Amino acid sequence: MSKSLGEKIEQPVLWEELTWEQISALREDGMTMVILPVGATEQHGRHLPVSVDTFSAIAVAHGVSAKTGIPVLPALPYGCSLGHSKKWPGTLSLRPETLAKLVLEIAEWVSSAGFTRLLLLNGHVTNWAPLRCGLENVRHTYPDLQIALRSLWEIAPRIHQFYHQDAVNFHANCAETSVMLALRPDLVQIDKAVDEPDRSAACFFAYTVNKESVHGVVGTPSKADLDLGKQILETCIAELSKQLKHALVEGAPLESMPPPCTDAVGEFGPTSPTPSQGGS
Ligand SMILES: [Zn+2]
Repeated sequence: MSKSLGEKIEQPVLWEELTWEQISALREDGMTMVILPVGATEQHGRHLPVSVDTFSAIAVAHGVSAKTGIPVLPALPYGCSLGHSKKWPGTLSLRPETLAKLVLEIAEWVSSAGFTRLLLLNGHVTNWAPLRCGLENVRHTYPDLQIALRSLWEIAPRIHQFYHQDAVNFHANCAETSVMLALRPDLVQIDKAVDEPDRSAACFFAYTVNKESVHGVVGTPSKADLDLGKQILETCIAELSKQLKHALVEGAPLESMPPPCTDAVGEFGPTSPTPSQGGS
């Protein structure tokens, strides 16, 4: 591990290790947020284990928790992996509606425990749509619970670039293999890595992975690099920790706005353009 990851001053706060009294104390001490890492169990080529997306989501969640004190819920090791087909054994997928429902049901208990902010931290591409549906249901059902969804590659433009540099529709690629070299090198069989092009990049329709990849890989895992893996993890943890420090005190935009101005010329002044100018 690199310097900053190896020099954790604090330990992550793990929900599964706490008693109800300790969870209650967290809340009483002012902690309002929890992180739910969401991974997947699905084939990742011949060279990586099926739990890559769970390992990576947990690693970032734990790193962020160690820096911010935000507790991490037990990770969901199953995701929506229907797109991987049944060609390769190992994938264990939920239906998208099941994943969306899990989010709503977990949110009910997060809310009843007194927490008011929930981050869904996603490690698998096709979890996004079901998680987004879960988010819609949560914010409708629990209007006082603030909820956010972030996939690892969405945390910052630099990370997006790392993940997509060898394939738009990446899978078990250079970035994912590099992250695993940093997290669990013992589980990476790099001599079995096979590079495959992103054959669906120019396609109109959406194809399952067995129709676009021979070995279940999209990208160039042979170019994986330990330092790149460390860099991706460190950047994810540093950037997300920074964002969450603000998110911990964020209110809804209208609640956070300064009181309305009673001046007759309005809050934008007599000469400033109003937000409606140029619009519909
Ligand atoms: Zn993956």
